Amino acid sequence: MQQDEEEEKHRKCAARKKSNHPTVPDMDDVVAIFDDLISAHSSKRSRTQAMFDTAALKGALMEDAMAWDELNHNNNKGSLHRLGGDKNSLVTDKTKEAVHDNTDELDLMGVDLETDSEEEDTIVPMAPMAVAVDSTSRQQFQEYCDTGKRCFLPFTSAEVSAIRLLNTLRRKKCSLDSYDSILEWHFETTGELRRGGSIGDCSPYLSRYVLLPKLMRRYNLEALLPKEMPIRLPSSNSKANVIVQDTEAGIQSLLTDPRRKDEDYLFHNDDPFSPPPADLNVIGDLNTGTAFLESHKKLVVGPKDVPMALVLEIDGTVTGQFDNCPITAMKMSLGIFTRKCRDKDDAWTILGFVPKIHSDASTGDRMFVESGHMAATETAAAMLQGEGVEENAKISNMQDYHNLLEVVLDGLAKLQQKGGFLWDLRYKGQVFKDVHFIPYISHLRVDEKEASSLCGRYGSYTKGVKSYCHNCTCASEESDNPDAKFQFKTPKMINRLARRNDEDALNAMSQHNINNAFHKLEFGKHNNRGIHGACPSEMLHAILLGLFLYCRSVFFEQIGPSSKAAKAVNALAKLYGKLFQHQSDRDMPRTKFAKGIQAGKLMAKQHRGILLIMAAILRCSRGRQILAESRKGCFNTQEQIRDWVLLVETLLEWEHWLCSEEMDRSVVVRMKGKNKFIMHLLKRIANRTKGLGWNIVKFHNILHIWEDILMFGIPLEFDTGSAESGHKVTKTAAKTTQRNQETFDLQTANRLLEYRVVDMAMEELDGRPLWNYFDGFSHRVVPEKPQVTCTGGSAIEVSRVPGTASSRYSWCITSRVKNKDSARWNKEVVFFLGKLQDLVIEKVGKLKIRTQHKRNGLIFRGNPFYRRTIWRDWVLVDYGRLHGQLPTEIWCFLDFSELKPGTVNIEYGGMRLRDAGVYAVVEVGYYSHREDEIAKSGIFRPFSKETKRGTAEDGGSWKRQFYLVDVEAFVEPMVVVPDVGGKRNAYFHMKSRQLWVEQFEQWVKDPHSEL
Ligand SMILES: [Zn+2]
Repeated sequence: MQQDEEEEKHRKCAARKKSNHPTVPDMDDVVAIFDDLISAHSSKRSRTQAMFDTAALKGALMEDAMAWDELNHNNNKGSLHRLGGDKNSLVTDKTKEAVHDNTDELDLMGVDLETDSEEEDTIVPMAPMAVAVDSTSRQQFQEYCDTGKRCFLPFTSAEVSAIRLLNTLRRKKCSLDSYDSILEWHFETTGELRRGGSIGDCSPYLSRYVLLPKLMRRYNLEALLPKEMPIRLPSSNSKANVIVQDTEAGIQSLLTDPRRKDEDYLFHNDDPFSPPPADLNVIGDLNTGTAFLESHKKLVVGPKDVPMALVLEIDGTVTGQFDNCPITAMKMSLGIFTRKCRDKDDAWTILGFVPKIHSDASTGDRMFVESGHMAATETAAAMLQGEGVEENAKISNMQDYHNLLEVVLDGLAKLQQKGGFLWDLRYKGQVFKDVHFIPYISHLRVDEKEASSLCGRYGSYTKGVKSYCHNCTCASEESDNPDAKFQFKTPKMINRLARRNDEDALNAMSQHNINNAFHKLEFGKHNNRGIHGACPSEMLHAILLGLFLYCRSVFFEQIGPSSKAAKAVNALAKLYGKLFQHQSDRDMPRTKFAKGIQAGKLMAKQHRGILLIMAAILRCSRGRQILAESRKGCFNTQEQIRDWVLLVETLLEWEHWLCSEEMDRSVVVRMKGKNKFIMHLLKRIANRTKGLGWNIVKFHNILHIWEDILMFGIPLEFDTGSAESGHKVTKTAAKTTQRNQETFDLQTANRLLEYRVVDMAMEELDGRPLWNYFDGFSHRVVPEKPQVTCTGGSAIEVSRVPGTASSRYSWCITSRVKNKDSARWNKEVVFFLGKLQDLVIEKVGKLKIRTQHKRNGLIFRGNPFYRRTIWRDWVLVDYGRLHGQLPTEIWCFLDFSELKPGTVNIEYGGMRLRDAGVYAVVEVGYYSHREDEIAKSGIFRPFSKETKRGTAEDGGSWKRQFYLVDVEAFVEPMVVVPDVGGKRNAYFHMKSRQLWVEQFEQWVKDPHSEL
């Protein structure tokens, strides 16, 4: 059907101009596309000739057609391409009991907490693979590879150009429909198409409706063509079409993707068959979590069994301004890929799209019919045929959602029921034969709301709802209790209640009375919690963001939200926001908030910045003074401020620890106690009185954090924040469709498949045709850029002002810098430089003053005029045994790298200048040793800059003290902010974030103390 439609389109296309482009590329894009298009042409032949060698093209098409006849013949023997043969049986009309029988058979995870006296739950062991394991997918792919090698001709230059154009359109996020308009313009320009003529008559034109299906066959992707499954929904009694893609074909396509490299795979000891090491004491990717470790123990029977963890994700996007076209794709990736690999969107396959049920339309129709208006007669007739007239009030509308999910997950369920599949895996230069992959669901990367729906929990979190958590049965009024007792929800527990129709008991745990689509599927063997234990709360994205923002609002509440003090704090926040941005440490969190930090909705990425600024305000002298004077009296004592410092800094360190790429197992286990401590801290210090107080699910979820990490690996494994890049593709694809509600899912699915087709073609052009999978794909190794050490930036010159007896110097930027005349520099540093120049000018000429020094991939700047402002980085410098490592502020660099030995030998700026090298002109700070000052913060270390007493003629009481320091003594960049409101030379050194993590781990390891 798909095929016919596309051919039809192609015919029409030849006859008429296309007029309905949903996205018109802007001019820049078109120009860029043409640059690409033109450079893609071979330079040897004329453009026309090269691009449209029609004879060659025809030949290729003939060859391919023959090859394909052969391959398709083979395919008919296999069963990979069949899906949905039994459309109707799997969909709706099942009675609940039937499904329950099924679920019970699958519900075999061994020991259960609760005993069931009424029914006998037969425990069926996982079927050992006595039956031959399915190898259809492997066989089909092997045959494809053989045919591919034998029969596929190389691309003609016309095809190459067309593929490159399609790829450019995709990269530029243009609609692939622009393809025709661009070619039309092109042929008109080259004169091959007369103005007003039809592009179809133009002999060199290669239609994408011919090219794409051909490529789809060439890359064995036809099995992935989306299919429509009609379904009648039991609750709303309406019809829907679910778009699904073949699960096995999807997995095959992920396994054979030429873009995958060896380092993308996640195997212990670089061996697919290797068991995990027994003494694993770190937590990293998902194969270090107990879900994997236990499943490995229980699933592996034969020597070639390899458990394949699956990660599922709901990719929900709303396109356009009004959410009339929401798109919800259920995606899946493989746990044999690393987490980093799974961050790429091409490591995911789509199982299907969960359509939005347009019940509004149905309800409207129903109202119309009920009104009895004569105009509604046709509607009534149509409804009798299609839509049900009555809604089934007895069935929860959550059942509709789960019936849709059931269709989407059907392919996966069948694959699991077969006991997995056989595969020959190419990895590390060899083919591992007969790998028996046993797929199980590790976890789902979803947000709290999605998790609730998937678990069949009520969607609401308002007062009166009995339980907020999808993991456990904790009562909602206990959500703010760090010591709350709870029992984990299990499919068995919930199904038993559903079977008895025990609405009251289900209501008590806020569960819908439904058949959960996931209860049919196999999850990790580490526990029997199924879907209810496989939706880890995404702590980075939601919990912390939520908690951080609540802290912020409580902080301002305690100051008095509209008080003078709050305004002052907010102004100070703006100042620190700016100061934190000027640092040599380039990956500081974003702290620049135009309107301060008191109000405003924030992106997840910004929450760290807010908290960091709060920490600075709580530490600096001016901030403490404002808080102490605030009228509400919440910060009047040192203890109150100290408590807030403790809370804010603990949260900051905690968040950084949670973002770690690797964690100590024992620390994670100990977090069980420390998490409770953090909860107590929040409750006591940030005493939230608004709304439900701390009686919220985000707060309760802190209790589950440590276990989630232990089961599934570091939080980045299940943080939806990192999945956002993957979302974009679906969004782009969705945006380039015509956004017709009825066919939206199908169009998006088709568009995504077309993207994959073009990607595969680009891989072939890069020397990695798909059919070479078993021979291995070679990837160009991008040579690592050598890290250069160099000194550069703007050049500055200092000169003695002529005609003056005393030493007066002027300076100027000699490089070409815009608006450099408006630059101002401190007189003292010019004097320091001028004096030095006087000492060496006869031997080496004028000083080479530079503003930038690069080493070890880091850039240090000391520039009087960088982006129109003064920029001076701080760096930690090693001053040897006597002084140790001290904070150092860079004013500029002196390039003496060409200094010849023996020319200069002077004492200046605290060092002997004799050897060739690069020296920085700096000021130096000394750390405070006052215990009370140090104790005021765990992340800011106070220090003062060295100054000297000025002479009377300078008019001031202090002067800057400059030094020269060899850049070889640089240790690391550092973040330094002034102590606003403190002494004029008082600063804070923000400890490196690595140190925060270490401090946090140390704190976790410390004995649990009472608050
Ligand atoms: Zn819970």
